[in-house]
Amino acid sequence: MASLISCPHCGTRPKEEFTVKGDASISRPTADAGEEDWYDYVYLRGNPKGLHKEYWHHSSGCRRWLIVERDTVTHKVHGVSDAALAKLGGGA
Ligand SMILES: [Zn+2]
Repeated sequence: MASLISCPHCGTRPKEEFTVKGDASISRPTADAGEEDWYDYVYLRGNPKGLHKEYWHHSSGCRRWLIVERDTVTHKVHGVSDAALAKLGGGA
């Protein structure tokens, strides 16, 4: 796992300050989606090899949710962005 994460708010910080919260590439189904869509959303996750976007929470820092793009093979971090800003169109 990458040992240093560049938080857009706090700067470069050790990974121990963060909590990995899961896959950032999935999206919540609509309220009227079928049972199978909800089952997939709640219970099923991929195990990707290569570049992957994950939610990380800076729990011992600014307490912001981040999207970390990380290579699951090399653990190299390729990008970090604020999840809320990305959702508003600020890039992810
Ligand atoms: Zn931070």
